[in-house]
Amino acid sequence: MKRNNKLPGKTIERLSQYRRSLLLCLAQEKTHIFSHEIAALLHITPVQVRRDIMLIGYTGTLRQGYDIRELIDLIGEIIDSQDGLNVAVIGLGNLGRAILTYLSGKRTKLRIAAAFDINPEKVDKVYGGVPCYPLDRLQEILEKEEVSIGILTVPATETAGVANTLVNCGIKGILNYTPKPINVPPHVYLQEYDMITSLEKVAYFVKRNQQPG
Ligand code: NAD
Repeated sequence: MKRNNKLPGKTIERLSQYRRSLLLCLAQEKTHIFSHEIAALLHITPVQVRRDIMLIGYTGTLRQGYDIRELIDLIGEIIDSQDGLNVAVIGLGNLGRAILTYLSGKRTKLRIAAAFDINPEKVDKVYGGVPCYPLDRLQEILEKEEVSIGILTVPATETAGVANTLVNCGIKGILNYTPKPINVPPHVYLQEYDMITSLEKVAYFVKRNQQPG
C-alpha cells in the first residue's frame, strides 16, 4: 500500500495516541494487536483505526492483527524527525514550569532546549535541566540551539507580541496555550489549546445528560 504523503492533523493526533497505547501494550509483553483492541483502548471505532493505519501504508494479518513493534516504529517514522526537534517554552510561570517538567525526557525526539521569561528573578537559572534566558536573547538562543518549536505560556496580553517575535526569529511551529488566538504566516504550523473550551465542552455534555428525556 502506498503511503499518503500529507496526513490530516486529526490523523496525526490519533497516530500519537495509538503509539502511546501500543507502547503500554509492548511493556506488557504483548506482540500483536487487532484494530478492535486499539479502538476499545481509545474509545473510537475499529473502522477509524483501520482507516488510519491503512493511510500510513501498514496492514496487519487476519490471524494476528498488527505487529505492535512494527507499528510503533512506523508511526515513529511518520511523526518524529530523524534527528529530533528542539523546543522552547516562552513564559516560565505556573503553566510553563508544569509543561517543562512534564515534557522533559518524555519524547526522545523532542527536546526542551530553552525557556524564556522577562522576570529577572527567573532568568539565568536552570529548571529541570533547562536554562531560562531573558527574552531579549530569543533570536540568539533559538539559532544557537536550533529551536524549531515554541510553546507559548505567557499572559494573554503578551501573546501577540511574543508570537510575532517568534515568527520573526524563524520559528517553524507554535503551540499556543494562552487564551488569545494568534495569526501566523502559512509556513508556521500553529496549534492552539484552550483549556476553557475543553472544559465548556465537557460542561455542555454533562448538562445535556442531566436533562430529562
Ligand atoms: P503566570 O503568570 O504564572 O506565568 C506567566 C509567565 O510569563 C511569568 O513567568 C511572566 O514573567 C512571563 N512573561 C510575562 N510576559 C512575558 C513576555 N513578554 N515574554 C516572556 N515571558 C513573559 O501564568 P500561568 O498561569 O503560567 O499562565 C500562562 C498562560 O497560560 C496564560 O495566558 C494563561 O491564561 C494560560 N493558561 C494557564 C493555565 C494554568 O493552568 N495555569 C491553563 C491554561 C492556560
